[in-house]
Amino acid sequence: MLDTASLKDLLLQPQDVVITTHHKPDGDAMGSSLGMYNYLVQKGHRVRVITPTDYPDFLHWLPGNPEVTIYTQNPDLSKQLIADASIIFCLDFNALSRINDMDELVRQSNAVKVMIDHHLEPEGFDDYRHWSINASATAQLVYDFITVLMDDRNLINKDVATCLYTGIMTDTGSFRFATTTAQVHHIIADLINAGAENWHIHQLVYDNFTENRLRFLGYCLLNKLVVLPEFRTAFISVSKQELEQYQIKTGDTEGIVNYALTINGIRLAAFIVERSDKVKLSLRSTGDFPANEICKKYFNGGGHRNAAGGTSEESLEQTVNRFKSILPDYKNLLIQ
Ligand code: 5GP
Ligand code: MN
Repeated sequence: MLDTASLKDLLLQPQDVVITTHHKPDGDAMGSSLGMYNYLVQKGHRVRVITPTDYPDFLHWLPGNPEVTIYTQNPDLSKQLIADASIIFCLDFNALSRINDMDELVRQSNAVKVMIDHHLEPEGFDDYRHWSINASATAQLVYDFITVLMDDRNLINKDVATCLYTGIMTDTGSFRFATTTAQVHHIIADLINAGAENWHIHQLVYDNFTENRLRFLGYCLLNKLVVLPEFRTAFISVSKQELEQYQIKTGDTEGIVNYALTINGIRLAAFIVERSDKVKLSLRSTGDFPANEICKKYFNGGGHRNAAGGTSEESLEQTVNRFKSILPDYKNLLIQ
């Protein structure tokens, strides 16, 4: 393991830096990556962000977005950049399986691997770690990294601030979750002071849907929502055909799971969607209920206690039945 002083020394010389994040990156993944990008370019490094897959259109306005390389669309260039990197920043994930086909490329690289993350149980591929499961978002840890560990508060310019604000905003459900401490609000205030236009960022991220996406949401709530009061659980499942019918793209399904949690008394919510190769589950819970335990135990996934995800190789119908069959085991926890 590298200590902070050694990493700081390393960053005094221009480096070839690759920043990567988990597949299907969300607001925190992209906000952290591009926040770090906009910071490191000011220090004179050659920096590239590589995402394992594409990501939602509502994140494409982020400062630095044109510099992002998508691995699945540009595998040769991505491989070359990873091979040439002297430092690889791994942001918002802590197991290399989360970067899909880039897994072995990063594992075998001789670059110094810096992991900044807030998920449970790091796998241990990193040379330097800034990790806390108490952080509201990886973007919060990137803020700490820049301001405290690297002592570079003066480099939090408007672009860095905008990206980090976006990461914290999206991972805290717009500053609603229990992780949103007073300290988080202090950081947010500092980011606004540094130029983040809070009202504009909210508009760009949340008021940016297509008509189809809004109608799809209506369809899900009216026709697809299943409520199981005896388990204080509600879920929505959608097939590939339904996604096609509404021309649903990457990112359009994000956040729909949260609507199921807005019903009074519901403690566990799920969104189960049939993708081209497998079925993907998104779980959300309130209080102490361990959504991540269900994902880890039954759906080859994981995440946070209140926001977790996983996948299933079974059909959509079988996956829904499996999900329902698990609930009796958790009944006591759900109804307490
Ligand atoms: P989402 O439901 O938005 O896809 O994911 C919510 C959270 O669950 C993510 O922040 C991530 O921590 C976790 N997560 C989602 N899918 C997976 C998965 O397949 N494996 C693991 N380990 N975690 C996941
Ligand atoms: Mn995150």
